Amino acid sequence: MHPRLLKRPLLACLLALLLLGSAAPAWAAFSLPPLPYAAEALEPVIDGTTMTIHHDRHHGAYVSNLNAQIKANPALAGLSLEALQSRIAAFPEAVRNNGGGHWNHSQFWAVMAPEGEGGAPSAELMAAISAGFGSLEEMQAQFNQAAAARFGSGWAWLIRRPGGELAITSTANQDNPLMDLPGIERGTPLLGLDVWEHAYYLQYQNRRPDYIKAWWSLVNWNEVNRRYGEAAAPTAA
Ligand code: MN
Repeated sequence: MHPRLLKRPLLACLLALLLLGSAAPAWAAFSLPPLPYAAEALEPVIDGTTMTIHHDRHHGAYVSNLNAQIKANPALAGLSLEALQSRIAAFPEAVRNNGGGHWNHSQFWAVMAPEGEGGAPSAELMAAISAGFGSLEEMQAQFNQAAAARFGSGWAWLIRRPGGELAITSTANQDNPLMDLPGIERGTPLLGLDVWEHAYYLQYQNRRPDYIKAWWSLVNWNEVNRRYGEAAAPTAA
């Protein structure tokens, strides 16, 4: 085709894209990320029914409630999900609960993998774990203790503190270590475990410690390594 004939359709396409862009809402709604594996893929540690309800209904509700909050609070529009966590104190409690719920669950699906597929801690992460806790087993024991001791609903976390060392923390409800709230030890979450009853009750009932112990076989260390590498990387000047 002659180059001059190509020019007009290209211009028309560009114009159409511009028009579409200006007609779109001023903010992009958050959406529910699909599970990165089949709902049954984590069995027998977590059953498929729990995974389906947890992802589709619980996480789905956090996403739609968060989008409703953005409509009601225009100052939220345009903030990334991560940026929102670090400014959460400025917004209503519904933003804290649903924005936290969306971030927490998005990381939760990602830091799990079917048994045998999650790899192992990298040499760099292992060195940081040894420096902070003495051993992987001791880190896990402290994490399990924080997860079991969380009264009511919440999360247990392995975080990287701003200074670089690792720590175990726990947050209530849908709070997380990125939030600028009093009483929360802030840091970069590397691994977070949901200890709300909705995460385990169908299969484990009141036996939360059994769920916590079994859950370690699902940890996606490849993703935890990636998060650690990203957090430890020097920031661009
Ligand atoms: Mn949950």
